[in-house]
Amino acid sequence: MSKGKINVSVENIFPLIKKFLYSDHEIFLRELISNATDATLKLKHLTSIGEAKVEYGTPEIHVKIDKEAKKLHIIDQGLGMSADEVKKYINEVAFSGAEEFLEKHKDTAKDSGIIGHFGLGFYSAFMVAHTVEIITKSYTDEPAAHWTCDGSPNFTLEAADKQERGTEIILHIAEDSEEFLEESKISELLLKYNKFMPIPIVFGTKTETLPKPEGAKEEDPAPTKEVPNIINNPEPAWTKQPADLETADYQQFYRELYPMQFEEPLFHIHLNVDYPFNLTGILYFPKLSNDLSLQKDRIQLYQNQVFVTDNVEGIVPEFLTMLKGVIDSPDIPLNVSRSYLQADGAVKKISSYITRKVADKLKSLFNENREDFEAKWNDIKVVIEYGMLSEDKFMEKADAFALYPTVDNKYFTWNELQEALKENQTDKDGKLVILYASDKEAQHSYINAAKDKGYEVLLLDSPIVSHLLQKLETSNENITFARVDADHLDNLIKKDEDSISKLSDEEKETLKTSIEETLGTQTYTVKVEALDSNASPFIITEPEFMRRMKEMQQTGGGMFGMGNMPEMYNLVVNGNHELVAEILNTKTAKKKERLIKQSVDLAKLSKGLLKGEALTEFIERSYKFVK
Ligand code: ADP
Ligand code: MG
Repeated sequence: MSKGKINVSVENIFPLIKKFLYSDHEIFLRELISNATDATLKLKHLTSIGEAKVEYGTPEIHVKIDKEAKKLHIIDQGLGMSADEVKKYINEVAFSGAEEFLEKHKDTAKDSGIIGHFGLGFYSAFMVAHTVEIITKSYTDEPAAHWTCDGSPNFTLEAADKQERGTEIILHIAEDSEEFLEESKISELLLKYNKFMPIPIVFGTKTETLPKPEGAKEEDPAPTKEVPNIINNPEPAWTKQPADLETADYQQFYRELYPMQFEEPLFHIHLNVDYPFNLTGILYFPKLSNDLSLQKDRIQLYQNQVFVTDNVEGIVPEFLTMLKGVIDSPDIPLNVSRSYLQADGAVKKISSYITRKVADKLKSLFNENREDFEAKWNDIKVVIEYGMLSEDKFMEKADAFALYPTVDNKYFTWNELQEALKENQTDKDGKLVILYASDKEAQHSYINAAKDKGYEVLLLDSPIVSHLLQKLETSNENITFARVDADHLDNLIKKDEDSISKLSDEEKETLKTSIEETLGTQTYTVKVEALDSNASPFIITEPEFMRRMKEMQQTGGGMFGMGNMPEMYNLVVNGNHELVAEILNTKTAKKKERLIKQSVDLAKLSKGLLKGEALTEFIERSYKFVK
């Protein structure tokens, strides 16, 4: 047996880092700006604790393109490096100076906002550059150093005459990466990744309009001047204390985040924890449309003010990905795969913290101003209902603010609803029957019929509502939901004393048979009932269960593993209605058939089921009647 040590040589690793370290080449700029920011924040920290005896001043980071020479410069006024430090921090791949700094100053620098972590960021420069130079001057008395590397593991290090403190990184852009010499590209990247970084970043100039001099004529153009163009907002709202911000500041920040978004957010939630994990951020409830797929990926994830991604899947509970805003946490391990992320303990805590904060905020909004909350309900209900459906913790809390509106814009909480219905809306088994409509227009006649009987009808029209009802029924045994056009007439509210049948059993049977014969192959279950004589003569209903299953199949991606559900309708015939009596007593078979056909078609029409050829036929037949 022999033992040994695997020899990993830099020659092998270097090209690997270059090629595969980051799938996205464009992040090199984010990494270099992060390093420049770190260098500046380190200096800030060292001056603040008296370890660096220099003036901190108002340092900036400058990004410059030299198109001619195909070079990109990133220049900072941070703490710089001596030649020895370059050897230590740059030449040693995977040694992080940022981590070393945090370790060394762990008592004081915890909240300094230092970004670096793995000691790999700098090398991402080689993804776009064939040669990289570092010219750097330490804040100490050490002379400046000049490091050059052409992408092989060989480098040169010599003295330089740079006088001002700080570091200049020069990228000699490779031929296949020349897009990074375009002003528009660099500005796009800076705005994407660095828009809220803590040190001002200057890129190019912008034209500023000056006030007109005294005595200038109306038509004279205002004078202008070129000023340095600062790309970023170093103090974004989420880094401030909620107490220092007004509603207008939150709205202003929303526009900064989403310049193309013209609608105001409905409200915001400021997140701010530092134990047991660090997290800050602001979430906004936008106005939502019913198309859920359009809503996602609007929350931006930052680490120490550096943009990381707008895919927060796994970090934010699914139902909240419909919100907008930012989350900033140095504690989210982003170097791991998304599926692993979901199992990560810290991430789980973050996710449940966010859920709780959102629930608390909703509760206080509801308690503070119920009227306003009701007015916003239609725009926020999808998120809330989705949350109730997917997160049990949220479901528990939602009783305090989830609303159940009626078709007449009355809003009940869950408790109020049960209270309101318990008198008048229980079935023969004592179960509470909650009637609802999903479409005020399409179900108009059914809604009216239910209201005539004095029942409350809810308007539950979001796309996932059938799933939610299912869940509510499961956790509340004594409650049933029934859509107004469901077959509730049979199994639900049937305690009308006056609904004594005017027809004998024999007459009912005759009637049923002639209707079934006329309907022929159409699959309706015909039921003759003793309804109020004012109610419709013919009503089509659909078993609640079947319809809901079908809906859930459509919105739940076949989660129930069923094939296509068959259509199943009841034709309820009101035996107490005059017209029905007339049909029963009609002697000529032809006329009887015509009356039945016409009536059934009217019932279908009222449920939106009359289409195509049947509709054409119905219209022709109706004209004949009119004549
Ligand atoms: P990390 O940022 O994770 O520590 P990097 O590979 O990005 O790793 O950088 C390695 C080290 O090089 C940094 O930790 C820092 O010590 C040093 N460094 C890089 N860029 C600069 C800079 N602009 N000014 C001063 N030091 C720098
Ligand atoms: Mg770094």
